[in-house]
This record gives sequence, structure tokens and C-alpha cells, in this order.
Amino acid sequence: MLESDNFVVREYFRKMIGEEGMKIMENVPEGEITDEEIAKLSDTKLTSVRKVLYTLYENRIAEYRTERDDNSGWITYLWRFNYDNIKKVMEEEAKGILKELKSQLEDERKGVFYQCECQRALFEEAAAKDFWCDECSSKFEYVDNRDLIKELEEKIEEIEKWKKEIKKG
Ligand SMILES: [Zn+2]
Repeated sequence: MLESDNFVVREYFRKMIGEEGMKIMENVPEGEITDEEIAKLSDTKLTSVRKVLYTLYENRIAEYRTERDDNSGWITYLWRFNYDNIKKVMEEEAKGILKELKSQLEDERKGVFYQCECQRALFEEAAAKDFWCDECSSKFEYVDNRDLIKELEEKIEEIEKWKKEIKKG
């Protein structure tokens, strides 16, 4: 069970596995457990449990090992959970988003942009076409991107804040 009191972490987890997933994972004790036992504990369909397990596995929060019954050849999957990895997953996601936003911000700050009716182009590209787009037969007009830059700066600030919140608690 996820013990974190950190609101940001809990919300992220809720988004990852959904409301039903939260209910399913609520009653899962520490240690190893099979999907069937989880289904019984939460009184849910096995397919729903497996869906949640798969999502958690993809995010490296759940892992399993298999045990083979020598007589029947039956394979049992024993699951265990590492909730500490949620923060790692979140930090990686924040890092990835920040990298993208910062590089976009840099492009916007460096470039001078023009826009026709079908596309946005750098000054150099628009100038090379004599500020006329043959594709849509319209003029390339100067674009003021100050609002976009401000928007990007605000988004970056927001993600930075979110990243700090992850570390708390
Ligand atoms: Zn055009």
C-alpha cells in the first residue's frame, strides 16, 4: 500500500492506476502476493488486477518472480511492490519535460518567427521565400512570440515547483 502523505505523489499514483486501481492496491499487504490473492482481497475481477499490475510493472513499481510447481508444471507469479520508485519515475518525467520546455524556450528566444496561413517559419526561411508562401498563397507575417515565451517560462516554473514537491515527505 502506498503510504506516502505527499499529495503530489498520491495524485500522480492515482492518475497512473485510476480510482479502481487505488481501491485494488489499498488492501495489498507488504511482501509477495499473487494476482489472484489481490483480486480476492479487493473483490475485483482478475483482469482488472492484471491491468493495474501491468501498469505498475511498466513504471517499475511492481516486479515479479515466477515459481514453477514441479508436479503440475503450473507457474505462479509472485508480485512485490516498490513504492519508492514512484518518486524516481516522477523525477525522471519532470526532468524530461523540463529539458523539452527549456530547449523550446531557447528556440523561441533566439528565433524571429513569421507565419503564413499554413505554417510558422523562421525569419531566414520566410526571407528566402520572399515572405510569400506558395503552398497556401499567402504572405508571411511577423509573429510576436512574447506571449508564448512567457507561457513557456510559466510552465517551466510550474514543473520546477512540482519537482520540488516530489522531494518533500
Ligand atoms: Zn503557407
